Amino acid sequence: MKPLVAITGASSGIGEATARLFSEAGYPLLLMARRIEKLNALGLPDVVCKKVDVTHADEIRTAVEEAQAKYGPVDCLVNNAGLLYLGEPWNQDLKEWEEMVNINVMGVLNGIHAVLADMMGRKHGTIINISSLAGRKTFGRHAVYCGTKFAVHAMSETIRGEVSQSNVCVITVAPGATNTECVTHTTSELFQKDWWNGIGGILQPADVARAIKFAYEQPQEVCIREIVVTPTKQSD
Ligand code: NDP
Repeated sequence: MKPLVAITGASSGIGEATARLFSEAGYPLLLMARRIEKLNALGLPDVVCKKVDVTHADEIRTAVEEAQAKYGPVDCLVNNAGLLYLGEPWNQDLKEWEEMVNINVMGVLNGIHAVLADMMGRKHGTIINISSLAGRKTFGRHAVYCGTKFAVHAMSETIRGEVSQSNVCVITVAPGATNTECVTHTTSELFQKDWWNGIGGILQPADVARAIKFAYEQPQEVCIREIVVTPTKQSD
């Protein structure tokens, strides 16, 4: 059997598409999200589904231990869970900022912490952190989201260098506009529409999933450090 692939935020969007693609290719999976019913409803074979809030490090660690007991070590972790709230910095609810920081930054760190030392010990493994085009350049109404995704880029690249001699790969995948539930969480309808306007095209979650799988399936000695994948017609 192929090695175990763990995915956070697998209950919708990019995470769900990634789960389906890896499953089709025969990988056993650990799928994590808060909406456990959506994970179970995927009906994929060789899967451990766990109700996990990525802001709780102990929940990720317990899920990893349970899946590893069944399928062996996690060889690939896709740190995908994330949240976008668009807003104006002078009136956006502080709770939205706090939630984005906790999920997009601490959630990624909690995932890394749960698997990195073991991967280094085995001298094998890949961590793929899902950032965003908003982790490479800034956009209006995205201040805190951009901050969290710039952090994902910075942490990924720093850790990549630090673990490189252990033969562990750390990869950042930065998608542009993708057709998922992501934007629906924004509380202002005005900004939901605003986000869609003028982009000219949109990726489907499966487009991003293919990039993730391509990056993972390189030989362990080859590290694709970063992929930025956007709709061709997204000019910004
Ligand atoms: P979705 O909203 O469809 O998916 C987000 C996923 O994250 C869901 O499965 C959700 O599951 C999970 N999630 C959110 N909070 C938590 C939490 N606290 N604990 C565990 N899981 C959590 O959006 P996308 O598929 O678009 O988002 C996936 C990633 O892609 C995110 O990191 C996002 O920032 C990034 N991205 C998206 C872009 C886009 O245009 N859509 C562009 C660039 C990057 P549940 O609610 O069940 O817990």
